[in-house]
Amino acid sequence: MAIEDDDWRLQGQEKYLLGRAMRWTAWAPYREDWDHDHCEFCMAKIWDRYSVGDDHVQYNAAWVTTDDSYRWVCLKCFADFRARFAWSVVGDAPAP
Ligand SMILES: [Zn+2]
Repeated sequence: MAIEDDDWRLQGQEKYLLGRAMRWTAWAPYREDWDHDHCEFCMAKIWDRYSVGDDHVQYNAAWVTTDDSYRWVCLKCFADFRARFAWSVVGDAPAP
């Protein structure tokens, strides 16, 4: 399904996410005192404390920008916005 220009998740991420290289990885802190991250699009929480049935943390792995490991994109948003943002994939994608 094509993503519409007025999709609520689009908030100008083109400025910093267009054409980036992305890799799939388990969540890891950006720096030592870092807590959790959110998907750049839908704000889903990505954290290593994920557990099944936990409503507060949606993922424990996601796509992240390869060069700085700073911008996280959840599985669903990656699929939805991959074509629009022309991301290149480094390494293996998760099994479907
Ligand atoms: Zn998302």
